[in-house]
Order: sequence, then C-alpha cells, then structure tokens
Amino acid sequence: MRKIQIALLLSLGAAPALAQSNAELMANDHYTRSHDYDLVHQRIVVADFDWDSTSFRGSITTTLVALRPALDSIVLDEGALLENTAVTDRRGRALRTARHGDTLVVFPAAPLAFGDTIVFTIAYRGRVKNGSGLTYITTDGLPHRPRQIWSQGEDHDNHYWFPTFDFPSDKMTWEVVATVPREDMAVSNGRLVSDVTRGAMRTLTWRQEQPSATYLVSLIVAPLVKIHDSWKGIPVDYYVYRDDSARAWRLFHVTPDMIDVYSTLTGVRYPWAKYAQTTVADFFGGMENVSATTLVDWLPDGRAYQDRPWYGWLLIPHELSHQWFGDYVTTINWANTWLNEGFAEFMPGQYWGHKLGAHAEQDYYADEYREYMQIDRRRPMPLASLGSNNIYPKGALVLEMLRDYLGPERFWASVHRYLTDHAFGVATTDDLRQAVLEATGENLDWFWSEWIYQAGYPQLDVAAVYDSTQHALTLTVKQTQDTVHADSTTPRPDMPASVRPDSSRVKFTTPAAFRMPLVVRVGTAAGDVTQRVEIGAREQTVVIPNVSSAPTMVVFDDGNRVLKSLHFDQPTAWLATELARDDDLWDRQWAIRQLGARTADSAAAAALAGAAVHADYYLTRVDALSALGAFPAATALPPVAAALSDTSAAVRAAAVAALARIGGPQAVALARGAWTGDSSYEVRAAAVSALVQLDSAGGRDVLGAALVEPSYRDAIQNAALQAIALRNDTTFIAALDSLVGPSRNAVYVLAALGARGSAHALDLLAAHLDEPRRAVRGWALEAFQYSLPRPLALERLRAAVDGLTHADTKRAVQDAIREMEAQPAR
Ligand SMILES: [Zn+2]
Repeated sequence: MRKIQIALLLSLGAAPALAQSNAELMANDHYTRSHDYDLVHQRIVVADFDWDSTSFRGSITTTLVALRPALDSIVLDEGALLENTAVTDRRGRALRTARHGDTLVVFPAAPLAFGDTIVFTIAYRGRVKNGSGLTYITTDGLPHRPRQIWSQGEDHDNHYWFPTFDFPSDKMTWEVVATVPREDMAVSNGRLVSDVTRGAMRTLTWRQEQPSATYLVSLIVAPLVKIHDSWKGIPVDYYVYRDDSARAWRLFHVTPDMIDVYSTLTGVRYPWAKYAQTTVADFFGGMENVSATTLVDWLPDGRAYQDRPWYGWLLIPHELSHQWFGDYVTTINWANTWLNEGFAEFMPGQYWGHKLGAHAEQDYYADEYREYMQIDRRRPMPLASLGSNNIYPKGALVLEMLRDYLGPERFWASVHRYLTDHAFGVATTDDLRQAVLEATGENLDWFWSEWIYQAGYPQLDVAAVYDSTQHALTLTVKQTQDTVHADSTTPRPDMPASVRPDSSRVKFTTPAAFRMPLVVRVGTAAGDVTQRVEIGAREQTVVIPNVSSAPTMVVFDDGNRVLKSLHFDQPTAWLATELARDDDLWDRQWAIRQLGARTADSAAAAALAGAAVHADYYLTRVDALSALGAFPAATALPPVAAALSDTSAAVRAAAVAALARIGGPQAVALARGAWTGDSSYEVRAAAVSALVQLDSAGGRDVLGAALVEPSYRDAIQNAALQAIALRNDTTFIAALDSLVGPSRNAVYVLAALGARGSAHALDLLAAHLDEPRRAVRGWALEAFQYSLPRPLALERLRAAVDGLTHADTKRAVQDAIREMEAQPAR
C-alpha cells in the first residue's frame, strides 16, 4: 500500500503486558491472532450491485480444516451490515449460526476432528457503509469519473463485503465470480477463467490458484479498457478509463522491465499468473492486491513527465515490489508490517539505481531520509513495533544500509533465502534475521537490536583537530541521541499532544550508542587518506595517521553508509571542497546546508553558485539554489538567473522559488518570464507562488489566470488556491465557487476564507451541502468538519440541516453534528 501521505497504521491487539520488551513481544508473536482452523479456499460470488443503496447480493463457499479436536464452532469475521439469508453445508443442510457485531459463528452439524475438512456456503444480502470494504462511486456529472466500485482490504476491511478470516496470518486460494452490467469490466486476482455475456449482464470468473492473504482479495467494477502487455509470456495488463487509453502505455509500459529487474535481483521469478494494474477514482494511492494492483486514476499527460511524476517514480515500482514482499511472503501480523512496506519502499531505489545509476539511487533515498527525519522528530519508534510510524522510509533506509554493509551478493542471497523459505507463507522479522544468518553465516543480532527493535538513529557530533607535527587528524565523536525521551512512555516536551504516548503502551528504547563501521576520508594536497573506523561508544576519539599536510576536507562516513544526522563544524574551504568533489548526494546536501547558513561568507556563496550551475546531478543544483535564496541579491541572482534555463524542470522550479526569497524588480521580471514561458507545470506553479509573494498588486492577474489553467494534478491551480488562502483574498470567492466540483480543493479554500470571517464564503459552502452532485456534498461536509473552528461549523450545520433535501447528506450532517457535540472542548 502506498498513500500520498503517511498515516499511522491502525492498531490491532490487546495492550501488551509491560513486562515484555518490544523485541520480546515481537519475537513471541504477541500480535498474531489465534484461531482454530486453517482457511483453505473461498469462492466469492457477487452480483446485483446497486449504487444508490451501496448494496449487492453475495454467496460464499468456504473450505477450511479444523486445527483442534472437537471443533464445534467456526468463528469468521463478517461485517454487521451483511445479512445472511442461508447457511448450508455441502449436502444443502442448514447450519445453525450466531452473530455478534462483526463476527459470525457457524456451528457444524457435528463437531470436526483435528484435520477434518468442512465446506459450507453463506448466501447473503450485502450492504456496505460506503468506503468500508467497498467504495461505490457515482459519476455526479463530474469529468473523468465513470461510475465504479472498488474494494480495499488492508488492514482488515475485506470482511465488510465477504465473511472470512480477516487477518494476514492464514493464507488461502480463492475465486471471485462477479456479474456486472455488460458495459463494465470486473477485475480481480489471478487468472481469468471465464467471461460470459448474457443479455445485459456479464459474468467474469477469476481464480487465484496460489495461496495469499485474505486482505489481498480484490474486486473492481468499472467501464475499463484493457491495454495488453506481457513479460516472458505472463500477461501484464493495464485497465484504464477509455479516456485515458492514450496515456496508459507511456506510464505503465515500464512494468515488464521492472518485473524483470525484481525477478533478477531477488532470484525469484514473478510468482503470479498475471499482473494487472487498474486505475480507479478517489483512491488514496496504490494497493498491492495480489496480481491485481489498484491505483489512483492520475495518469500523467505528456508534458507532466518533465516533472518526474511520483506515479512512475515511486507508485508503480512500490506496488509491484509488494508482489514479492507482502503478497508472496506476507507479514504474519500488523506489527511486522515493515516487512511488507519497508521492502516495497526500498525496492524502487534498487530499480532506479539499476537503470539510471548511483545518483538516481541516492536521489531516491534522499526523499526517504527527509520523510523519516520529519516523522522521527514527532515520535521515535522502532521499525518492528505495533503501529510503527516509520515503516516506509526507515524500512527503506535500513535495508539500504544492510545492503551496503553486507554487499550486494550477500544481501540478495539473504533476500532470496527469506523469500524462498517462506514462499506463499507468512514471516516475522526474526525470519528475515534468520535468513541473513543462514545465507551469510553472519550473526547481526546487534544490527537487528539497534535498527529494527529499538527506536532512533545515531545523532553524531564530530570535531576535528589536525596536528601538523604528528601528521595526524584527531576526531572526537559523540553520539547525542536522546535516550531518555525516546521511551514512548515519556513524552518529549516538544511533542504535540496528539502524538504523545500513553502510559499503557510498550516501552521503546533508543540505543545510547549505535555500533557502526564506517570510513573517514581526509583530502590533502598529496591525495586522499581513508581509514576504516568502528564507532560504538557514546563518546570516542579516532586518530587518522599519515595525514601529511593540512586537510582540505574531511568526510565522516564516506559514501554515507550509515543512517545518521551529523553535526561537524568545518571551515568553509573544507565544505566547498567536499561539495565540488564528493560524489554522494547526501554528503553534498549536508555540505550545502552548512554553506547555506553562511550568508555573509563570499566563499560559501561562490561554492553554492558553482554547484547551482555546474553540479553533475540535478538534485545538487536544486539544493544549491534553495540555499542561495537566503543570500544577498548581488551574489545570488546571477546563478539563479542562469539556472532558469537549466534542462531540468526541478532546477528551474527551485530557481523560481529562490527568486521569491531574493526579491526586487529583476526577480519579478524573471518569475514572470517563467510563468509565461516555461513548459513545466511545476515551474509555472512555482512562478504563481513567487509572483504572489513578490508583487502583491501585479500578482492578481496571474492568480486569476492560474485558477483556470489546466495542469497535471492541478499543480498550477493548486498554487493559486494556496495563495488565495494565504492572502485571505475574498475577491476571488465567486471564481472559487465556480471551480467547486472539478476542483475539490476549491471547497477547502472557501472554508479557509469562511474560517477567517467571510460569511459569503460560508453561505456558498453551505449551499454545496444541498447540490445534486453526491461527491461534492460529501466534500462540503468534510470542509465543515475539518477546516472550520468547531463552534462556527456547528452553528452553520445546525442552520442548514433541516433544509437539506438529500437524505444521505442530511443523515451525514446529523451524524457530524452529533460527533462534534460529543467532542470535548479544546
Ligand atoms: Zn505499500
């Protein structure tokens, strides 16, 4: 799964006994749910989908094997809204059942012996709370939005549309038989067995013949066209709206090559009967349903490719790698989810490194680093822990570090071992550690303890002294990470209340000293001196001998092999040398940050100006330009102006953003040039933001034009919306209102203006609660709930509720009012 924004995973499981450490709870499988049968196969038959009542008709035949003697009751998860009409065994005899909330108990006619198999069928009338298990989408007269249904199982939502064991630890095979209107397609997992049209209806049967987890059962019903591709005889299909068919090939055709690279790296050939990628509306990102990934319907147009869309760079390779990590070998419980998500976030960096070289790989992980640092500042948590907040970026970074430590041959041999030992099965974090031990002979218990079961990362404070008589450089290395407040039961003073841990949670620790082998590189006039050093104490001294002349730079952790933060006060000349010479992008970013703080230092400005124009990789030019924005116009403007004709759109966008900080008439003229003349959506969006900041009077015409300028994912329009909200500019209210519908964000900007006192904006927002488009009514209500102060939202919703004509919205508004009234005052 990959969401646009990282959300905390839902917690599941009882509060653990505090006596056990996080590592013990993980090792003892505390978070794995017990059950007393082995689910073997489910045949899921669905038909009669109704979009108005979000309902359907279902029938499910379940095969399972008793895992204890005298099994007299079978407990399944089944959403309370599913109404069973008959439960029968293989001979058609009715079976007794009981319902408790979202639980169904089926009583076999006679108790089963250990190892006995039972088959029974549940016929039911299905109804869902829209968005739980199934999402029904109506067209609502909105563009690019055909009527459709999509399922979403992870973490435990599939039981809202079919009764099952809704936990990842028990795998099964399955069949999905869906009868849909003949103009629609139904896409599901596995092999398409049959596709029969009778009259106005069409029945498709999909069979998932290798076992996988029940949260990966998927169904999409929509009018889709299939674009066929293949990899070594395996169908690789892209299901998109007819409108998008011209865009699909360019976006998705990279898939067979990615399958090839992943198969080669892991040594495990793509394991499923086919690979489908299907696009749907209002999706949160992507979901790796086995052999049938679901993706959001944001296909880039031709021009968007110069802005390197997230879709191709991250989303497609992330979901594809789950076909190995998550679907083929699955986390045994949700506390080990980093085994799914960490690998899925790690693998795209490997793909890009393989295809485009080391800089692309470092570029990929630089984003993960930034994301991880933001998360860790809020709350440090171990990768392997229930509800861990950092499984994506820290997972990717720790696996990259493990690969660097082991070297690629030993790393991939370990991964191969892990995948093959647990093929079509489930795994714990310890299974991965065991696979590394078996494949390499190396006991990395310290690595697992520090990086996987404990929280945090080494925060290094380094100081250097050169002794010209001894020809030695002495480094004092301190590890300064906070070990007191890292314990999740001890809130840090700067933690927002919303993320403060409660005292019932398990205690997490941060190592006082991380152990890390690394290399120090010292530049001298006579060439570089390198030395391997082993860091492992809270404070230690490292002496580098044979440094024959004064250092010209000192790179601590050459090649950036360790996940860390680094405080190391250095002369500008060292930093400038490192920026010009060091090939590693993290190292360069670090040097740029130090130089960027020296805004009065002309040598720092010169080093950044050189990097902004001449660095051999675009990201370094971007970083240098961002730093130059804080420098005086006389030094900053020439390189920034030159960067506006860079071949990389990201560099030009960074240059435009720097202009906004530099200011002055020349900056305005250059930003206007970017707005009118640049071909990139992101550069033009940056120009909108810059011009509004630089030129409050002249920026208005740009805002008006930007609001109606089409761009991929509305990048330009969103820049204008953001500027209007920031300026609290009520003169655009009519224009905003006309955008509501095609633009969801326009609703939120109306709410923002309303929150700051515009009654007119609130009147318009309230009117959208009663308009014909169901989706827009929902967005308007969300804006009241989440973008307005509660007293104001309550007052407005109470005034509106009685006059509402749509029953669904009226009910939703009543619920929202009750919910807000029940919240404690803040
Ligand atoms: Zn994922």
